[in-house]
Amino acid sequence: MKIIMLGAPGAGKGTQAKQIAGKYQIPHISTGDIFRANIKEGTELGMKAKTFMDQGALVPDELTVALVVDRIQKDDCKNGFVLDGFPRTIPQAEVLDKTLAEMGEKMDYAIDVDVPDENIVNRMGGRRACVNCGATYHIVNIPTKVEGICDKCNSETILRDDDKPETVQKRLSVYHEQTQPLIDYYKSQGILKTVDGTRPMDDVFAAIVEILGA
Ligand code: AMP
Repeated sequence: MKIIMLGAPGAGKGTQAKQIAGKYQIPHISTGDIFRANIKEGTELGMKAKTFMDQGALVPDELTVALVVDRIQKDDCKNGFVLDGFPRTIPQAEVLDKTLAEMGEKMDYAIDVDVPDENIVNRMGGRRACVNCGATYHIVNIPTKVEGICDKCNSETILRDDDKPETVQKRLSVYHEQTQPLIDYYKSQGILKTVDGTRPMDDVFAAIVEILGA
């Protein structure tokens, strides 16, 4: 099963993607997580990506596309994968389709987790990420057991630079300009499914499972 998660930044697509990966036993491929891991390790890719990410801009295709093209050809992707944060532009989607076509494959579902902008701005201000392992929380919806401390590795949790209010506004406008057109792109391919992302997380996941089948 090959799935793309669509939705504005902060719509909850990452949380849902992780649950899908767990239930269907397929890899969760998040370009944002790959970039953040590179930033943490201080790689050249990480340093280049950070300048764009901190401004709420997209990382250029030449740093992004090859990562995903390589990743989806790995053995563990044979039974499918869930893409989270990729594609984010029509050209990225076209490269993905072309790569899969060359492998004799195609995407099965594009799931749009739909949340209005006003909800997004409120949500992102409450988001916290672990400085060490990158696990994400929300001060109201997914709180840590001890305030400010990661449940998984006991490190500090912080508001990521790219979740700060001014950056969120920029990310939302980038989303509307560059990523939202993918909704029509996948609608015309007949694989678009929309779920109401304003509902509680478990309800959103139940709606997704209904689409994908148990
Ligand atoms: P995310 O964790 O998916 O919200 O991604 C965080 C940031 O990483 C984005 O705001 C972009 O700067 C960058 N990024 C992640 N995925 C992509 C992509 N497919 N194309 C370009 N930039 C990306």
